[in-house]
Amino acid sequence: MAEQLNETLETMYQDVLKRNPGEVEFHQAVREVIECLGPVLVKHPEFKERKIIERICEPERQIIFRVPWQDDKGHVHINRGFRVEFNSALGPYKGGLRFHPSVYLGIIKFLGFEQIFKNSLTGMPIGGGKGGSDFDPKGKSDDEVMRFCQSFITELYRHLGEHTDVPAGDIGVGGREIGYMFGQYKRITNRYEAGVLTGKGLHWGGSLVRTEATGYGATFFVNEMLKARKDSFAGKVCTVSGSGNVAIYTIEKIHQLGGKCVACSDSNGVIYHEKGLDLELIKRLKEVERRRIEDYLTYHKDAKFIKAGNIWEIPCQVAMPSATQNEINGKDAKLLVKNGCIAVGEGANMPTTPEGVKVFLDAKIAYGPGKAANAGGVATSALEMQQNACRDSWTFEYTERKLEDIMIGIHKNCFETAEEYGCPGNYVVGANIHGFIKVANAMVAMGLV
Ligand code: GLU
Repeated sequence: MAEQLNETLETMYQDVLKRNPGEVEFHQAVREVIECLGPVLVKHPEFKERKIIERICEPERQIIFRVPWQDDKGHVHINRGFRVEFNSALGPYKGGLRFHPSVYLGIIKFLGFEQIFKNSLTGMPIGGGKGGSDFDPKGKSDDEVMRFCQSFITELYRHLGEHTDVPAGDIGVGGREIGYMFGQYKRITNRYEAGVLTGKGLHWGGSLVRTEATGYGATFFVNEMLKARKDSFAGKVCTVSGSGNVAIYTIEKIHQLGGKCVACSDSNGVIYHEKGLDLELIKRLKEVERRRIEDYLTYHKDAKFIKAGNIWEIPCQVAMPSATQNEINGKDAKLLVKNGCIAVGEGANMPTTPEGVKVFLDAKIAYGPGKAANAGGVATSALEMQQNACRDSWTFEYTERKLEDIMIGIHKNCFETAEEYGCPGNYVVGANIHGFIKVANAMVAMGLV
């Protein structure tokens, strides 16, 4: 199914497979980027000569550590913690922490690798990194989560710093976890170093719009793709997978822009509400009460819950996968296109398999890959760092305008780069090449480090 690579790139890819056995998600992320880079090496022989691709594929530093903690009954648990500091050519390592039982080194490396190019696309001075743990926050008490976060940061703190490495949230890590980690970092270091973590609470160094940023940003990106096709969100039926932070604020912005979101999901199943989702209820269920999406039915008898259902079977014009990696396969993608889907914007990281991506590109629908479409979250983290650096806090309106401008800029750069490299409308090519070239140029300028 995959594109043919030329000999140089194939050798590089085989080397990545050999050096990182079993890390299938990392292989997938590397393959997608490398497939776009043939023409770049022709234009820039210095990248080949300085082995920029080989260097980018090897993280600058990988930290793996034990995280011991005690539950409320006093029982001892051991989890594994990770931080992969992938690339610091453009700034301090920046990227979220994921707490989920599926986490292993291959997941953190795929996320960290994507983050390099995503962060480059934002135009902000941030390098790429990612971390997390196989800890499962589901069903844990606040105290258990606190003890886990304290133990996690007690090891990781020595690698962090506002000029070194700045984590934030991802799946399983939100405001509560960032609070516990910031508290422990402050206690150990005896420094109120606001810029060491982003996604902080609004009264202690956080930025307005950070909570909304990934979902709002992804929707702004889709809006730009639609505008480029002389279209808009007005009246469009949309589906958004997931019901976490990204999904919630994607639905909010879709509704603000005149679209109608009819379905969302969690790991148990899909909620379908033909007249449009009740977002305030979803916010209360998920953000305040931490309940399952199935409970939506208690309040809306006319909605449907499809247990273990596949959200992509629901016809829509715009699909925004906002749950997790590889949630749309080739079959799902074909079904979406067949049912009239004209735009896909990825709020999650790498939610579409390579087979699915090919279906979207062949069908020539507007397909916004995650590293471009969901860059609004990390971009707003960088805005939070800016505010921390000058001990300032901006208004919601000002910060949201900045986010929208950044997303418009990312869209424009991807769009124009795709045209320049002979693939008009292909945002995968545009995002990978534009993101890569900035990092590569910085690495060449900084010498062999
Ligand atoms: N985890 C988010 C992402 O995938 C945000 C990272 C950040 O804000 O540093 O980009």
